[in-house]
Amino acid sequence: MTLDEVLELLSNVALVDDRVVKVDEIEQRAQVSMWAAILGDVPYEFAGRAVGEHYRESAYPILPKDIAARWRTEVRDRLNRSMGTFEPTDHPGVDPDDQYGDAYVAALRNQRRAVAVGASEPVGLRELMPAVGSRLGGGRVAELVPANDEFRAAKEAKYPRRARPAGPAEFAVHCPVCGASAGSPCQLRGSGRRMTGTHPSRRDRYEAQLISNEGGTS
Ligand SMILES: [Zn+2]
Repeated sequence: MTLDEVLELLSNVALVDDRVVKVDEIEQRAQVSMWAAILGDVPYEFAGRAVGEHYRESAYPILPKDIAARWRTEVRDRLNRSMGTFEPTDHPGVDPDDQYGDAYVAALRNQRRAVAVGASEPVGLRELMPAVGSRLGGGRVAELVPANDEFRAAKEAKYPRRARPAGPAEFAVHCPVCGASAGSPCQLRGSGRRMTGTHPSRRDRYEAQLISNEGGTS
């Protein structure tokens, strides 16, 4: 969602729950940028649905983490349902024999991203191979996504990750719980003391970002 979409969403939320949107102008601005930071990957349409679902089930004011959690579940479900099949010939400009060519890798990446963000319906493994799908069961279907070491190395060369700060991998994102910025350790709320571990939501957020950025193949 863009900043404008977050504003739109918050004004819709305010219509159904006057506890959510801050009244003070400065607080409101901070709130909008916090929501935008947390929900940057979430499509506006989805966020609107998530707000509706939240208020169907909960009497508590909605928080951006509620929407983000629903989005993570949606992305995981979509990628788990996706076969990971890729037909190079469906993509103009892709040379099917040049598997590590820019066009091939870009088209593959776009397809995975499209599945993750909902622009494209995933091809269900169960629909194609009911026997295998039921034997593996639920979430394990994603293991069939064809990504071997060679593919990952080629992809890494094409799309080098930004240098990661020292510490656990989830340091790459800011923490939605304590607000620690990228590269900084989590802090205990209240005392503000540095935590030895990180908040689980930060790990979730990092993983969700990996899935939506990298198509879940790394
Ligand atoms: Zn934290």
